[in-house]
Amino acid sequence: MTREPPKPLILIVDDTPTNIQVLAENLIKDYRIKVAASGEDALRVIASQDLPDLILLDVMMPDIDGYEVCRRLKNSPHTNAIPIIFVTALNEAANEEFGLNLGAMDYITKPFYLPVVKARIRNHIRLKQTTDMLESMAWIDGLTGIPNRRRFDQMLEVEWKRAQRNRLPLGIIMVDIDHFKEYNDCHGHGEGDVCLKQVAAMFAATVNRPGDLVARYGGEEFVILMPETDTDGTRQLADQLRHRIESMQIPHTHSSASRWVTISLGYASLIPQANQASSALLDEADSMLYQAKSLGRNRAFGYCLG
Ligand SMILES: [Mg+2]
Repeated sequence: MTREPPKPLILIVDDTPTNIQVLAENLIKDYRIKVAASGEDALRVIASQDLPDLILLDVMMPDIDGYEVCRRLKNSPHTNAIPIIFVTALNEAANEEFGLNLGAMDYITKPFYLPVVKARIRNHIRLKQTTDMLESMAWIDGLTGIPNRRRFDQMLEVEWKRAQRNRLPLGIIMVDIDHFKEYNDCHGHGEGDVCLKQVAAMFAATVNRPGDLVARYGGEEFVILMPETDTDGTRQLADQLRHRIESMQIPHTHSSASRWVTISLGYASLIPQANQASSALLDEADSMLYQAKSLGRNRAFGYCLG
């Protein structure tokens, strides 16, 4: 028995009940609808239930306004892919620019013409569905053009088994851009994306031995997999990456680590034991990354596991 896929879910956020009503009445035929009457309400609904496929977001609301709701959603890796359309009476170009820079997909001003609103919603939902599908199939991260986490997970298993079989070390480096949330907050998400691309391009140019893999692990996290590389070799590459990113001198006005965009790195290398899972290597690098951050960021940290 085949079942129809569920209709896309739209969350309508507005503090004026009649605004919600007009939109809901016109969308209910084609979509599942959820509503929220305030910013807090919206964040609670999103945190506690299925993620919406699209959010129609009023700007002017008491307490947490629409801009702030957008900022928070875009700052969380869990919610940052949800397309947001601002629906607002603020009709100045500067408001629109501000909203789009926060990462919103689109900006519709009230009073609106319903057929246009519906057409735009349909287009954005279609784009979201296509992007979701391509990302689930692809090995390449859409923003940076380097391999994605899916590809990394797959290669980690391949290389782990190979290292196990041949009793050779497997090296790994986990990388985090320092204070990236603050970078997005003060430079805007558009600039944040440019920064991610620049950092990824530098990684890709630096990690160039055959067999090595650099991937975007998620958000501002990257990971590098280095077959047949001991702790010393792993550390050398980690130090080189740290130095090169700092030398790019991408201005970062809100970082405690530096005036420039910098990275923290945790590295590890081990020879896999029989029956040992690859998560041992990931966990080790992750805890080394945590140490690097605790020590003040803009540094590489790791030690020999013997
Ligand atoms: Mg309002």
